[in-house]
Amino acid sequence: MPPARRASPLPTVVLHARDARRVAAGHPWVFDSAVASQASGIEDGAIVQVEDASHRLLGIGPYNSKSRIRVRLLARETVAIDAAFFEGRIREALALRQRFLPEATSYRVVNSESDFLSGLIVDRYEDVLVLQIASLGLDRRKPAIVEALEKVFAPRAILERSDGASRRFEGLELANGLLAGRLGGERAESAGPAEEGGAPDANRLEVRLSGLRFEVDLAAGHKTGLYLDQQLNYQAVSRFAEGARVLDCFSFLGGFGLHAARAGARHVRMLDQSKEAVAASLRNAETNGFADRCEAEVANVFDWLKAKSRADARDEQRYDLIVLDPPSFTRSRSSVPDALRGYKEIHLRALRLLAPGGVLATFCCSHHVDTKTFQDVIQAAAADARVVLRRVASYSQAPDHPIVPVIPETEYLKGFAFEVVDSSR
Ligand code: SAH
Repeated sequence: MPPARRASPLPTVVLHARDARRVAAGHPWVFDSAVASQASGIEDGAIVQVEDASHRLLGIGPYNSKSRIRVRLLARETVAIDAAFFEGRIREALALRQRFLPEATSYRVVNSESDFLSGLIVDRYEDVLVLQIASLGLDRRKPAIVEALEKVFAPRAILERSDGASRRFEGLELANGLLAGRLGGERAESAGPAEEGGAPDANRLEVRLSGLRFEVDLAAGHKTGLYLDQQLNYQAVSRFAEGARVLDCFSFLGGFGLHAARAGARHVRMLDQSKEAVAASLRNAETNGFADRCEAEVANVFDWLKAKSRADARDEQRYDLIVLDPPSFTRSRSSVPDALRGYKEIHLRALRLLAPGGVLATFCCSHHVDTKTFQDVIQAAAADARVVLRRVASYSQAPDHPIVPVIPETEYLKGFAFEVVDSSR
């Protein structure tokens, strides 16, 4: 064999001391403000090496002059960022899921920073993979990523859903479509954007979550199709559902509602403002044999709760288990106060609709609202509703969305279950 040729040295980016510490501790983001000096003429998407002030190597990753995140570190040492690199990282990510979520057949395979692949999300829905790319560096390397995924999973299809608003910050257009294999009747080679290709049903897939069957629309659904981060919480919350009248607010495809029905709920009412989601949740109830105990309504939860939670609500209109799983009310720190008002309002109204001894299971998926702030807002609502809450469970994101404490952004989903005690106690 010829001797291995030394790779030509990568262009260098040198950091200020205070930022170097954060990066050295394991955070993969190098902000523009952290750069003390850099080689001239670095092209966007090129791999650079990042050093601290004393020229110690902190890692390598793609550079992007258009993004506030100038460099996203992918490796701590100098390695080639090619299909073999992605294959290695994806296999490590898969091993974690197999270890900590062994029963799941649909799960997040790669969760960006949580799996040391900043900017890449890969979800597995049974035999189909859905890819979401949020960084220019990985967008340029999409063929290598697809090659690695094909090798590891041999999936029926790989679909791209790179429609996150954050692509804008990287100077990227949105990108949707089939990258490999076939879905419904369409083949990757001939397919245009997924929304245009084939019959509207072609992108629907049946997914199993802890034995329940869910119809998922991979091309048009939320996120990449499902909220996989709640997978374990559906079961955990359903423990409080036996014999209960259940209200599932922001129900989407009915994850909480249908698990509650399986656990023996007397009746389940699901509420979502999306017509398509409500229709799908009703089909899901039917498929799983719970149609007789499940109802779903197209409604704005704020308005619905307001109308029903009048102080004169009669006992038979109350619920034994209410689930609140709203979308993130805030995408930025500046809108947190508005978001908190929204959270407080739905908690206050939900508490007024709970029967004595009822359970409130509530979630917050905004990274900008931390656990303490969330708990405080719930307590403020409880004080207004004149009830005392007793916390009986805490929830987080499923282990296929692992939290890396040195990267605080990887932690976002928190939830609690409270038993509600009336104020005479
Ligand atoms: N509980 C769901 C996820 C909810 S995501 C699950 O586990 O799958 C948030 C859902 O809330 C979306 O389906 C969205 O359509 C719906 N939504 C957003 N704002 C709403 C509102 N004001 N009223 C009712 N539904 C709303």
